[in-house]
Amino acid sequence: MRILVVEDEPALRHQLVRAITAAGHTVEAAADGIEAHYLGDAESFDAVVLDLGLPQLDGISVLQRWRAAGRGMPVLILTARGAWHEKVAGMDAGADDYLAKPFHMEELLARLRALLRRAGAHGDAQWRCGAIAIDTRQARATVDGQPLELTSHEFKLLSLLMQRKGEVLSRTHLSEHLYPYDADRDSNTIEVFIARLRKKLPAGSIETVRGLGYRLVDGDDTAT
Ligand code: CA
Repeated sequence: MRILVVEDEPALRHQLVRAITAAGHTVEAAADGIEAHYLGDAESFDAVVLDLGLPQLDGISVLQRWRAAGRGMPVLILTARGAWHEKVAGMDAGADDYLAKPFHMEELLARLRALLRRAGAHGDAQWRCGAIAIDTRQARATVDGQPLELTSHEFKLLSLLMQRKGEVLSRTHLSEHLYPYDADRDSNTIEVFIARLRKKLPAGSIETVRGLGYRLVDGDDTAT
């Protein structure tokens, strides 16, 4: 399995990487919130160990942004000892489990195993709309079972549309979720991404609702 470890404290980060690697996983590590958000967004992980107290962007915000963009991988948060409010905020933001510091590495590994087991067991990370399917955990999209070659932006855009298929999503909504910390985001670039995505999807999958935005529909049901 592929695990992302996010911890700013170097000694603990190295311990985590070593222990999780020794447990047979492939591990990527990030030392701050911006890097963590980027990795979790652009790449696919089977689980994430996420410290909440991070430089640049705190762990709660990182998690909220992943979830808002449709990233459903299991996340285990590391909280400060006795900080019950952190646990509550973390679970509200979409964490699957938490562990208070300091912890025993064995307990962390056991919880990680449980998370991976649960994720594998219910495995409903597949979203469908007509012939289009995406696997949110693997970050893969297919049409009629054939893999789609998508850039990470195109994949994110498709995830947003799939998550709320049939609903009209405004350009502003889409650009806010695609570029969470770009103050100069320009909703016109969404048009460019929509045009590229359209070329890769069955005809009529993405409807333009004039003045409002875009909607993903089951291509077979429409005449467009
Ligand atoms: Ca920290």
